[in-house]
Amino acid sequence: MPETNYIAENLRAVRSQIAQAADKANRAAEEITLIAVSKTHPSEILQTAIAAGANHLGENKVQEAAGKVAEIGRSAANWHLIGNLQANKARKAVQSFDLIHTLDSIELARRLERICQEESRDRLEVLIQVDLAREATKSGVTENDLPNLVAVFNEFEHLKLRGLMILPPFFDEPELARPYFRRLREIRDELQNKNVFGDKAGELSMGMSNDFAVAIEEGATLVRVGTAIFGKRENLKSEI
Ligand SMILES: *Cc1c(COP(=O)(O)O)cnc(C)c1O
Repeated sequence: MPETNYIAENLRAVRSQIAQAADKANRAAEEITLIAVSKTHPSEILQTAIAAGANHLGENKVQEAAGKVAEIGRSAANWHLIGNLQANKARKAVQSFDLIHTLDSIELARRLERICQEESRDRLEVLIQVDLAREATKSGVTENDLPNLVAVFNEFEHLKLRGLMILPPFFDEPELARPYFRRLREIRDELQNKNVFGDKAGELSMGMSNDFAVAIEEGATLVRVGTAIFGKRENLKSEI
């Protein structure tokens, strides 16, 4: 028995908790996509997760992710960028990822659009990271600046706004994150009423290992779960 069997077991447990939370909220579990956050873990571990059915993987560092994508294959999984994106990594990000969760400036949006053009990437879907707590250490656009960032998508041909993402302050008690999740959903609903996500519903990327159940109750469509699947990360430098 391979010693990485715990990954398949953990995936099963997380999926069943997702189903329970969805059920509690009268939602269909199929509405929720589990992103297995594989940052800091080596490619073999990712491959084990893929073999166990994890087809969405989340990484927070472009360089680290690009290496894994090259080893494992661009089409072996759906690759999600969940960490801050610096301008000088934008091209590599366009090449490596299916969905970028962390757009937070007009400048970066314009750069991504231009790179899509240059790289013949027909369509790149992004989420805007919203900073509701106004934490100086975290990236994300404030609620005040959000409308201008949303409006810039009118200029674009390739870059598509698919939804919103939030990384609330860390709380030991998951209930304390609920107001952030709820507010993000309200903002998503307001934008959706203005048709900014096209004819599809806007995605809500929210919820991590310790609070994904609460996030699902509040409408999460993408949950980003690392520790509960892969165990504790050792390299704390790679943390958010
Ligand atoms: C690391 C990370 C996660 C996963 O966190 P866990 O607590 O390990 O589940 C989710 N979202 C972001 C943005 C992260 O950086």
